Amino acid sequence: MTDYRIVCTEQTGCTTGGHITAVGTGTETNSASQRYTVQQVYNLMDSGNTFHTYGAGRRANVHKWNCGCGVGTLRSSADSTTANNLDNLRICHWK
Ligand SMILES: [Zn+2]
Repeated sequence: MTDYRIVCTEQTGCTTGGHITAVGTGTETNSASQRYTVQQVYNLMDSGNTFHTYGAGRRANVHKWNCGCGVGTLRSSADSTTANNLDNLRICHWK
């Protein structure tokens, strides 16, 4: 089992304002080491792995969530703060 830290996201526009399509994980806030699509994250979650965000000294667990546009995506738990909210992470910049 692995507890992945999400450090950045890729998002797409949709009628409800956009949803996450892929994430970058790693131990460095400013450098993602691995890219996972939402489907890959779902598969890893189904295998017992967990995903979280970290910011301002607090972590937030990340869960499956269905966007209002009907697409399966990801969201951080309701007790997340602005510092560790998945939606507030930087956008991934892959080289
Ligand atoms: Zn959407």
